[in-house]
Amino acid sequence: MLACTIHAKDDLRIESAATPEVGPGEVLVRLGAGGICGSDLHYYYEGRNGSFVIREPLIPGHEASGVVAAVGAGVTRVKVGDKVAVSPSHACGRCDYCRQGREQLCANMKFLGSASLFPHVQGMFREYFVMGERQCYPVAGDVSLGELAFAEPLAVALHALNRAGDLLGKSVLITGAGTIGCLTVMAARLAGAAQVTVSDVLDRPLAKAREVGADVTVRADRDAEALASPQFDAAFEVSGSFAALKTCVAAAKKGARIVQVGTLPHEPLPFVVNELMAKELDLCGAFRWGIEFDWAVRYLSARRVDVRPLLTGQFPLQDAVKAFALAKDKTQSTKVQVVCV
Ligand SMILES: [Zn+2]
Ligand SMILES: [Zn+2]
Repeated sequence: MLACTIHAKDDLRIESAATPEVGPGEVLVRLGAGGICGSDLHYYYEGRNGSFVIREPLIPGHEASGVVAAVGAGVTRVKVGDKVAVSPSHACGRCDYCRQGREQLCANMKFLGSASLFPHVQGMFREYFVMGERQCYPVAGDVSLGELAFAEPLAVALHALNRAGDLLGKSVLITGAGTIGCLTVMAARLAGAAQVTVSDVLDRPLAKAREVGADVTVRADRDAEALASPQFDAAFEVSGSFAALKTCVAAAKKGARIVQVGTLPHEPLPFVVNELMAKELDLCGAFRWGIEFDWAVRYLSARRVDVRPLLTGQFPLQDAVKAFALAKDKTQSTKVQVVCV
């Protein structure tokens, strides 16, 4: 089988690897679609994602769907031929955080396609991979494998919404109109936000945000005035830019909540503590997701959230280099996927 492996910065190879075997309770999945995420791009083009540095070859990919190819002894949740969304989160289920229902904070987390641990936890950009049964969510109906591979990023957006609290009737700012930004737009509408404003520094992402339900879009670089005064009840910083976080702080009404979703560059940052204090802002983080993955699978399979406008293109796994290049170019793409055909 083929596997896409990042050896170091700018060094991505398509290699052949042995097809893994299933053990008891395990499922062999053939990749359907795998979405290229910002973190995959960071690993490829920078050799690191925030503080997680590549120290050995890493198979990226944590946004995947597939088809069950074989099941091990005792597996009951799925059968051969089932279409599945795959959760990349292996939380231990036993630590305090897991027991409190915050598995994304698990003290023993193994997250697929991440260099946060050493040895790295290998990801899903490969023809076949083995998963524990509970990582596989079978789905019926005509939702495509490409749509199902949005379960992970949609879960990120839903979790960010959960961190923000009740949005019914509220005005919301989202800085960043990439995949997560656009999914946050859709999630905010599901949650009853009265008005959703999105900022970005490129036109194409903003057009996408409007297409999926943003009421107002702002070119943050050209029209900074539009976001200079307090007007939002909640803000989501999705772009991973400190300038955007400052925009959120300035544009938040007193008492508002700001949710940091994006990963900022790995460098010391000046901070905005006085504004937090004087406006009684709540600034909180949203990291991955927990139960929201289950919700995301349901929203996608019922098309309560229709992600099709966000899927720019699909490339065979062999063409991963081309796929990454398109995924990196935000003037051309929103979500790009590698697929097994
Ligand atoms: Zn991701
Ligand atoms: Zn745990």
